[in-house]
Amino acid sequence: MKNKVVIITGAGSGIGEATALLFAKEGAKVVVSDINDETGEEVVKRIEKAGGTASFFKADVASAAENKALVDFSIKTYGQLDVAVNNAGIGGEANKIADMTLEGWHRVIDVNLHSVFYGMKYQIEAMLKNGQGSIVNISSILGSVGFEGSAGYVAAKHALNGMTRTAALEYSGQGIRINSVGPAFIDTPLLDQLDDEIKKQLISLHPIGRLGRSKEVAELILWLGSDKASFATGSYYPIDGGYLAR
Ligand code: NAP
Repeated sequence: MKNKVVIITGAGSGIGEATALLFAKEGAKVVVSDINDETGEEVVKRIEKAGGTASFFKADVASAAENKALVDFSIKTYGQLDVAVNNAGIGGEANKIADMTLEGWHRVIDVNLHSVFYGMKYQIEAMLKNGQGSIVNISSILGSVGFEGSAGYVAAKHALNGMTRTAALEYSGQGIRINSVGPAFIDTPLLDQLDDEIKKQLISLHPIGRLGRSKEVAELILWLGSDKASFATGSYYPIDGGYLAR
């Protein structure tokens, strides 16, 4: 990763934070982006304290203009863009379809799906100028199976996988690899809204007997972003403690 320039969205917390720390440790220049400037700035401080290079850029991924500004910032600050990790996402409204509000539906599609289209649109434009790049879109196991009470989230993550495959068909021949990663339930602040009983039930869905850790997902994202994954494109990579094996 030495001297590679990486954008990571939602990098102030959870999987994005672990990914930012790992890429920086491997020598990348990391553009830490989040809607929350406090946590984002904190991640930059931790990277710099450890001797790495990073800058914070505040962006709401649900905005096309802010996705463009994020890519422009990366080029202006570090001269290029090599890897983009479209990670920011929300759990969204937890309701069955008949009870789901229209606002709840639109919000989760905006933040978890439209965001990835906007991100890739501007990231690919920049990478084409470089003649190379790698994009890793963060999906979920719920990109391949359903989950009661989360229709919007599930729809967004399924669609993200289809969009990833299509983007790979369109751009793999021009040096840009594009993949998605499908974590099972990972112990991050995203799960804070769940009570202990529900967390226990979730654990039981993972044959490995526990929730995942952000660092474990970050290792897969790092590999996909790196040249070690030079033949990997157009695929969906679950990382799930056996969840999907049932
Ligand atoms: P997290 O700990 O909640 O971190 C997500 C980060 O994204 C937070 O800093 C959040 O800021 C930020 N964010 C929220 N909305 C945003 C927006 N509109 N624009 C920019 N940033 C925004 O979540 P996580 O668990 O690491 O999840 C990261 C990704 O992994 C998501 O795409 C999620 O769907 C996926 N994933 C997570 C799990 C899991 O079990 N944790 C499983 C499968 C897939 P605030 O804190 O201020 O909202």
